[in-house]
Amino acid sequence: MSDDPAKLRRRANALVIFTAGAVVVGALIGWLLPGWLPEDKQARETALMVIGFPGDLLMQMLKMMVVPLVVATMVVGVASLGDIRKAGKIGYRTIAYYALTTGMSVLLGIILVNIIQPGSGAEHLAPAAGELPQSLQHPKGAVESLLQVIKGMLPPNLLEAGVKMNVLGLIVFSVVLGAVLSTMGERGRPVIRFFEGFNEAIMKIVHLIVWFAPIGIASLLMARMGRAGDDFFQKEIPRLAKYMATVIIGLGIHVLIVLPGIYWLVKKRNPFKYMLGMAQALLTAFSTASSSATLPITMECAKTNNKIGDRSAGFVLPLGATINMDGTALYEAVAVIFIAQSLGIDLSLGQMVVVFFTATLAAIGAAGIPEAGLVMMAIVLTAVGIPPENAGLILAVDWFLDRFRTMVNVAGDSVGAGVVDHYEQRDAGPIPAAAA
Ligand code: ASP
Repeated sequence: MSDDPAKLRRRANALVIFTAGAVVVGALIGWLLPGWLPEDKQARETALMVIGFPGDLLMQMLKMMVVPLVVATMVVGVASLGDIRKAGKIGYRTIAYYALTTGMSVLLGIILVNIIQPGSGAEHLAPAAGELPQSLQHPKGAVESLLQVIKGMLPPNLLEAGVKMNVLGLIVFSVVLGAVLSTMGERGRPVIRFFEGFNEAIMKIVHLIVWFAPIGIASLLMARMGRAGDDFFQKEIPRLAKYMATVIIGLGIHVLIVLPGIYWLVKKRNPFKYMLGMAQALLTAFSTASSSATLPITMECAKTNNKIGDRSAGFVLPLGATINMDGTALYEAVAVIFIAQSLGIDLSLGQMVVVFFTATLAAIGAAGIPEAGLVMMAIVLTAVGIPPENAGLILAVDWFLDRFRTMVNVAGDSVGAGVVDHYEQRDAGPIPAAAA
């Protein structure tokens, strides 16, 4: 594959244009689709299945890449750090960035939902009909959920962790394997080289998948919106418009002001150019509603378009896809306070603090899969004494907001990779003389 910069730029531009076109066309057709679909339930299902088929293929292909990609990039990333102190540094920086940005996004959500008050006067809101996820019917407490996240880091069976896509468990194992290999000198080197070659091969496959992504993306959007039906557009959106607006405004501020601000403060470079380089990943996140499935494309965009070093991309992005979810954190806070408002419950300042911490925890614990945030909401609701089945109030629009928050989750990881890479490069050697 050519590394000619002009060619790479043209390739990246073409992909962004195709992908953006796919989102627009997919959403437009998806919006009109409910009216075009056959009345008969069976025929309707079949039509949606066919329309969504390329999208299913895309999801399968992306997911197929996740396990090998995470293991190979993490092993290579950590092994290439060599010195364990360097590994510590990149680890602290990544975690500090995640903690700071997640905290900022929850706080932003709490402030906005208190100012806009989307739920006050909304006591008439009837919960939408629909099947509640199991976790909301039989909720787990915050402590149990936290312990479960920690337990997941040490999977008893690596193959099972792969089958269940327990990315966090695979990360922990790969980090340890990479660190140990790097201490083994000559004997470790062939194994590291194997993973390097393997990693490169996986990235080349991702290079091919990205060309199929626009077709898959259009198909995913059409099928999902078609399935939502007219009721969603005519009843649910007006019913929950103020709540949805609060979430989307919050996410918008975070992704357009807060994250670019951090990037600019650190790098003194145009953050929007950087975001443009990540555009295909952001649009894929929007269409798949899964940070984990998007991970291969996030890596590809970060490395190819934004020239993020293998080490930073390999460390920050896989970890971020599982534990750093700014969008989900903000959404958890807004949703829970909105539910409280519409039930006429006045949350005290202390309870807001509880929301702050449990929303952060819920975001860390949420898997990078569609609507995982809704499932984790039980923690936050229970912590402030609201029966979790009240999440039924926002159930009908969760799939829609999920797309926006997943996009913000991926944007958060992407900016994190840029920020951490800046410090990594600074430590690696003298910074070239600043341009006059
Ligand atoms: N779908 C989100 C993600 O994959 C998680 C969530 O439901 O908030 O990042």
